Amino acid sequence: MTHVVIVGAGMAGLIAGYSAIKAGHTVTVLEASGRPGGAVQAEHLELPEGVLAVDAGAEAYAARSTVLDELLKDLGLADDIVTPNPAGSWMYLPDVGAVPAPRVGMWGIPGDPTAQEVVAALGVDGAARAAQDLHTPMDLWAKRRAAGAAITVGELVADRFGPVVVERLVAPVVAGVHSADPYDVDIDKIAPGLVDKAIEQGSVAKAIADLRAAAPPGAAVKSVRGGMQQLVNALVTFVQARGQLEYGAKAIALDMETRTVVTETRQRVQGDHIVLAVDAPTVHDLLATSTALPQRAELPAQPALGAGVALVIMAVDCNALDAQPRGTGILVSPNVTDVAAKAATHVTAKWQWARDDAQELKKHRHIVRLSYGRVTDSADGSAPGHDTAEQELLRLARKDLSRMFDVAEEDIGDNLAQVAIIRWRTSMPLTTPENSRRIAGLQEAVQDIDGLHLTGAWFAGTGLAAIAHHSLALSFNPLQ
Ligand SMILES: Cc1cc2nc3c(=O)[nH]c(=O)nc-3n(C[C@H](O)[C@H](O)[C@H](O)COP(=O)(O)OP(=O)(O)OC[C@H]3O[C@@H](n4cnc5c(N)ncnc54)[C@H](O)[C@@H]3O)c2cc1C
Repeated sequence: MTHVVIVGAGMAGLIAGYSAIKAGHTVTVLEASGRPGGAVQAEHLELPEGVLAVDAGAEAYAARSTVLDELLKDLGLADDIVTPNPAGSWMYLPDVGAVPAPRVGMWGIPGDPTAQEVVAALGVDGAARAAQDLHTPMDLWAKRRAAGAAITVGELVADRFGPVVVERLVAPVVAGVHSADPYDVDIDKIAPGLVDKAIEQGSVAKAIADLRAAAPPGAAVKSVRGGMQQLVNALVTFVQARGQLEYGAKAIALDMETRTVVTETRQRVQGDHIVLAVDAPTVHDLLATSTALPQRAELPAQPALGAGVALVIMAVDCNALDAQPRGTGILVSPNVTDVAAKAATHVTAKWQWARDDAQELKKHRHIVRLSYGRVTDSADGSAPGHDTAEQELLRLARKDLSRMFDVAEEDIGDNLAQVAIIRWRTSMPLTTPENSRRIAGLQEAVQDIDGLHLTGAWFAGTGLAAIAHHSLALSFNPLQ
């Protein structure tokens, strides 16, 4: 029998374990911490009336791929798949404040530059410039494509729609949701096929409108009733019933001669295949310990960690939020100076199950989740984020919630039932071009090593759907 040893019990490692077991192999999963799931985690808010579980990391998955639907079905969770409130989200922009986000778009790039929400967000002149995309030939981009040059989201959008569209519509989404600078993000990575379709159609907006119209009907994201932690629980039950899952088992060394993982407690776990489902800096550390790697001397420089994020999750009893004033939530432009958060999710407006759970405990109870820390922040710590002290985050969160949702600060402060602060550092890859090169270098260094596999957000692409796809595609054939 083939034995697969997996390092890391985040979503990537657990899905790799599930996949290996399904293929008939035996599995050992080693997890450094005391709990599974990595960045998919529930926070249990202790409230006077009872405990409320809310997502403290990933809260949804992209619906464009059916891979997670299939997995959830196989694990018996088909009836628990949920879609968000279709009310849509808002944006918080310099000068105008809160405005509804354009309904037809992709990564903030408008599918209809003449839409009312686009004019409200850009102003009449900005919208007129954006509409030039509809009539300007795509020749420049066809040439770039033919030359095989990489095209970033920022440069394409700035040219076609004007830099103001990058600044006001695209940056809040790319920086807020994906923690990246639009001028660093390769468009083919996040919107495969868009550039070719735009060249064919003579317009990026028309191509987006077409792609959106052709997408399966329904929401762009889905989740699980009770939170994404339910998927972790189901995967853990599956893996533990058929294999081994060990907590407090931090891998510190790798011996590829014998295909053995060594843990901090000096346990040696041997397998036919080794899957590293951890962040790239840790993969680099582990590879550097193995004497059997011919490419050892050729390992690229160690990838760097990003600045990370801090989340402030607030349970607040506030009638003014009943009207869901910002739909499912709000993304903040990096150029705004009166709000420090990069985004806020109105959890109880977005997910019916969360509203039912919260309001079963108390009427008018709302859960909001604010996030702090952008990848574009300077490293001097001047912008609030991962390292900001708790009291300061709390002060900012009350002020920001009041500004973004147009609710009096006293209404929040006086009615705050519970607050939790969660900090994330390793689960979000740093997407600068230099870091992406180092990550690609690591992948290249291991590609010819039989029995060694890398997976996870750093190698598969951020997002649960991309990770699931990648981990499920790992193949554990018998080795010579
Ligand atoms: C706040 C936040 C919100 C997000 N929201 C979404 C969302 O809504 N939708 C979406 O699709 N994605 C979202 N993401 C991204 C998504 O959650 C992550 O990309 C994904 O969960 C990463 O999974 P992973 O298994 O690659 O890594 P991780 O979740 O980081 O798991 C890695 C695991 O490896 C363990 N480990 C590390 N080192 C060792 C070692 N040496 N030995 C053994 N174990 C080790 C860690 O303890 C951890 O459990 C979000 C991320 C964050 C931080």
